[in-house]
Formats: sequence, structure tokens, C-alpha cells
Amino acid sequence: MTDATDTEAAGTDSVGGGRSTPAEAEPVVDLANVTKTYEGGVAVEALSDVSLSLAPGSYTAVMGPSGSGKSTLLNLVGALDTPTDGTVRLDGQDIAALSEADRARARGRTVGFVFQTFNLMPRLIAVENVALPLVFQGVDRGERRERAADLLSRVGLGDRLDHRPSELSGGQRQRVAIARALAADPALLLADEPTGNVDTETGAQIMDLFAELHEAGNTILLVTHERRIAEHAERIVHFRDGVIEGIEDVSDADPTAASESADADDTDPTGPAGGTDATDGAGEI
Ligand code: ADP
Ligand code: MG
Repeated sequence: MTDATDTEAAGTDSVGGGRSTPAEAEPVVDLANVTKTYEGGVAVEALSDVSLSLAPGSYTAVMGPSGSGKSTLLNLVGALDTPTDGTVRLDGQDIAALSEADRARARGRTVGFVFQTFNLMPRLIAVENVALPLVFQGVDRGERRERAADLLSRVGLGDRLDHRPSELSGGQRQRVAIARALAADPALLLADEPTGNVDTETGAQIMDLFAELHEAGNTILLVTHERRIAEHAERIVHFRDGVIEGIEDVSDADPTAASESADADDTDPTGPAGGTDATDGAGEI
């Protein structure tokens, strides 16, 4: 279940500045023969026998047409859901073997989520939004605020600590959401179409931020339908009809060829939260 990229990364003990990665590091996430079927009027097999592993410090993009199983994959990787068949290990733990409460704890400890629709609390100012995950980690108020302010500075919003989401542009909101995802210092950052609701320039700035986080040793899994966004990752996993169609190593790709093959096969505008504030994101950063 481990491909060449993972083996390489796992054999390096200097991946990332902030995180130590032992030579025989376990994958942050390991999916083995995972099938996910949604029961309903008609059962839908959203994922079929998928095996994929994310090495510590790796940066992976997932592409595929609408309905190919990308969000289902992210939900399983982030322990928001459990597989119908096969095993999902998050930080070595089989998520299906955990109680609901333990799964939530594992998620809070290990995973930071970034959604297309930002999902910020409208009544909370930026620093409170970012500090929110720390409330559940039992971090005291003063330290929460200090850490949240640090993170907001890191994403370039040190001068917007007291602003509510409605007082921020789309790009600024997404940066608040990224800071919030990082609050609990998660090993893994999951992003579902993080640039889907921002303009091209803002999207580029958000991708620069992900590149910095990758440099700092974070493990990133990013879903996108835009090829030029996916190319920021080390590899691109292509999904179709719930199966992995192929895994492309971006670092090996001919940059000329890659930039010419713009991917226009997917126009899914909605993330898992349904794109509720899709119209207010097109602001300047
Ligand atoms: P993508 O993110 O690639 O657009 P999804 O993972 O959201 O794809 O969906 C994969 C398939 O599973 C689709 O056919 C979708 O309709 C179906 N699906 C997703 N979520 C559910 C659900 N909660 N209940 C039933 N079917 C679902
Ligand atoms: Mg989706």
C-alpha cells in the first residue's frame, strides 16, 4: 500500500523543519483496501478498494470529476466517517476500532480541516475563531489568544485579529480558516477545494501559504479540480468512479508539458458544506 514517494519520504529523517520524522516513520494516514458504500434508496459505492498512504511531511493533491469520491476520501482520512470495508489508520490507529468519542479526540489531535466555504463562526472575531479548537484541548484563555494571534500573524492577518468574518474578504477568511486548522498543531492538514471561493490571485497566495506549511513539515492532503493548484503538491492522485486511476509524481513531470494540460473536466462548485457563502468570497485579499 506504500508507493515509491512514501518509501522515499519515510527514509528521510529531515523532512520538515518543525517536526522530527524518524527514519522508519509510520504513515500519518494509511488506507488499505477501503470501500465506502452509502446506503439509501439506492446504495452508492463512493470508494472501491482504495489503498493510499500519506508519509509524514508529504504533500498530496487529489483530483477527479465531480462525484468521483474525493470528499468521501477526505472524510475517511479525517476520521469524520468510517469505511464500509477495509482499514483506515490515522496516526497508527484503526479509526473504525475507536469509539465515537475517541475518534473525535483523535481527529482533534491529528487533523486540521480547511473547507471551500471557510466555515467560520460569524459572531466570533478572527482571533476567537482561530482559538476555538484550543478550547476543546483544555488550553487556558490567555494562551489560546496568544497562540491564535501568532497564527494569524503567520498567515498575514496580524492586523485583523478583532475583525468578524463579515468584515474580511474571501481570501482573508480562508486564511483565518487555515490559521484555525493549524491551532491544535495537527500532523495532517486536509483541504477540500480551499481556493474554490477566492479569485485567482488570492488562490495563489493561499497556495504559497500551503507551500510554507509543507516546508515546515506539515503533511497535506488537498482536493482540487484545478490542475495548476494540484501541481503545487508532490504528487497528484487521480480519482474516477471511486477508484484511483493513477498517481502522478509532480516533481518528475516535465514542467512545460504539465502547465499546458489545464484540467477542465471537473466543475464541481460545492464542497461538503454545500457552498453556502460562495458569492462572498471573490474579494481581494
Ligand atoms: P466528489 O467529492 O468527488 O464530488 P463525493 O465523495 O462527494 O464525490 O461523492 C461520491 C459519490 O457518493 C457520489 O455519487 C455521491 O452522490 C455519493 N455520496 C456522497 N455522500 C453521500 C451521502 N452522504 N449519502 C449518499 N450518497 C453520497
Ligand atoms: Mg467533493
